[in-house]
This record gives sequence, structure tokens and C-alpha cells, in this order.
Amino acid sequence: MNRREIDLPSRVVLRPGLISELPDVIESLGYSHPVYIVDRFTEEHFLPEGARACRAPEATIEVAEHAASCVSGADVVVGIGGGKNIDVAKYVGWKTGIPVVSVPTIPSHDGVASPMISLSDSGRPYSQYFRPPHYVLVDPDVLVNAPDRFVRAGFGDVVGKYTSVYDWWIAHVDTGEYFGRYSASLAYLTFRHVVRARKAIAGKTHEGINVLMEALVTNGIVMGIQHSSRPASGSEHMISHALDYLRGKKGMHGLQVGLGTIIAAYFQGRDWERIRKVLEDVGAPVTAETLGISEDMMIKAVAIARTLRDRYTILHRLSVGEELARQALKATEVI
Ligand SMILES: [Zn+2]
Repeated sequence: MNRREIDLPSRVVLRPGLISELPDVIESLGYSHPVYIVDRFTEEHFLPEGARACRAPEATIEVAEHAASCVSGADVVVGIGGGKNIDVAKYVGWKTGIPVVSVPTIPSHDGVASPMISLSDSGRPYSQYFRPPHYVLVDPDVLVNAPDRFVRAGFGDVVGKYTSVYDWWIAHVDTGEYFGRYSASLAYLTFRHVVRARKAIAGKTHEGINVLMEALVTNGIVMGIQHSSRPASGSEHMISHALDYLRGKKGMHGLQVGLGTIIAAYFQGRDWERIRKVLEDVGAPVTAETLGISEDMMIKAVAIARTLRDRYTILHRLSVGEELARQALKATEVI
């Protein structure tokens, strides 16, 4: 690997009360014509009065294309809310060249500072490398008030690094794919930190939410170092993508990834029981039923996961199909 370019956000700001001063903060960054990408909830709760906005009800290519057509004259695109608004804002930035600011209002996944655009294209996962948002503006007072399920989801997404990093190593051993030790170590470190802080995270203390947010931002930075989501997304993510595909809509990403991590760890011959325990400790789902997924769909998802994207993982090494999927899901009591 000869490339020596690392894409990072210019600045990440974590400051209590920031969101109520958003127009001033945006102006202080040198922008005077912002367009905010919102959904109904963030429009109602966080959109500054009188601000120009474009709605993104879903994280699909169609919605993102529409958003890209409604930002003319803007000098900055501000994605405010959860994952989908920020992904749509990044897509708009990629298409139009307008700088992107990310304002996460829930700590639910690691897209907030990442260079990846993650959308759905007719039900299939769409993943595109762009670059990280120019600025990431975080108001901890808002994040500690996020509903529990979003916090559990963010935790699940970071727990997924337990298996994603190992999948990367497996790919290196089996196929000779480049393995970046620094990026891998950094991603794995975020897993260790959130596990250690899991009580504070579940309790949504400022300290716990800070650890979770730092972990999510760090994984975005890891992807910027690697120019790929490889360190942060392995078989546990493929299982989540397969669930989205079979359900015909995006489920709670981090919760599905957490569940996928139990299964991936089992296939990897590692400590899946510990993964299940730490997820239980924060109240995250450890069975398919809790996520409203039937046994059949869960088996199918694990069986087709490796066909959804061209990325070598433990699922490829073991050629996982329906039989192995059923076996793993029963053994781990996911079904
Ligand atoms: Zn993820």
C-alpha cells in the first residue's frame, strides 16, 4: 500500500448547549447560507427558526438525489439528526461539492464523522467513500436525552468492532488483503472502551455518552485513515444489511449489528458469550424475536449475508449457508 492520504474532519466540537446556538456556530465557521437536512422529528425539535431545510424521510438514493436538487445557492449542508440525515447530507455534499457539517442528535452509529455514505438503493446496501464532514458539532446535553434504544444501538455498532477487526485479519491471512495494524488497533480500542464504560453508557451519564461518542467519532476517523469502512464493518454488518434487505427497509442499524456480532463471534470461534453478556448489560437485544425478526428470516439473513457485498469475512471462509446459519443461531440462542 503506497497511498499516504488521510481524510479527517477539520474540527470536532463537543459543547453543551451548542445546538441552541447553531446558526451562530455555523456563521462562525464562515458560512452564511446553510441548508439543513432534517426529518420530521429533528425539524420540529432542533431546526433553527426560519432556517432553510430539506426533508429526508428515508436514507435512500432517491431521497438523497431529491435533497441534492434542493440546495442550490447554499454554501453549506448541515445534516442534523440521526444517521439518515447525516448520510443524505454527505451524499448531497458529494454530488454538489458543497461542504458538509454533521450535527448528530443521537449517538446511534459511527456514520457521524465517517467518510462513508451509507444509503439504500432499491433495498440493497449502497456504500460510497466520500470524505468526512468538514465539521462535526456535538451537543452532549442533547445526546444524554436520546431515547434508550438509540444509545443501545450506538453501543451495538461499536461492539461490532470485536468481529469486524478480526474479519479483516482473516481476509489478510486467507487472501493477502492489506491489513492496517494502526487502524485495526484503534477500532478495537473503541470496543474495549465502551465495554468498560457500559454501565455509564446504559445510565446515559455525561461521562458514558462522552465515551460512546468518542468511540463513534474515532471509528469515523479510522475509516478516513483507511479510506474504507473495512476496519469497522465485517460479517456482523453484512448480517445487518441482509436483514434490511429481507425486511425491505432499514432496521435499527446498531441493534442489528450487535446481534450480528454474537453470531459472527460464534463463527470466528471467539467469546460470543461475552458479547451477549455486554449487550444484555446495556439492555440491547440478543434474540431475533426481540427485534421482531422471525426464525426463518434470521436464518436466511445469515445465509445470504456474504452475497450482499464483495468483502471477505468469516462467512466466506466457512462458506456459511442455511445449515451452518441455523446451527449457529440455535447454539447462541439468537433463535
Ligand atoms: Zn455500523
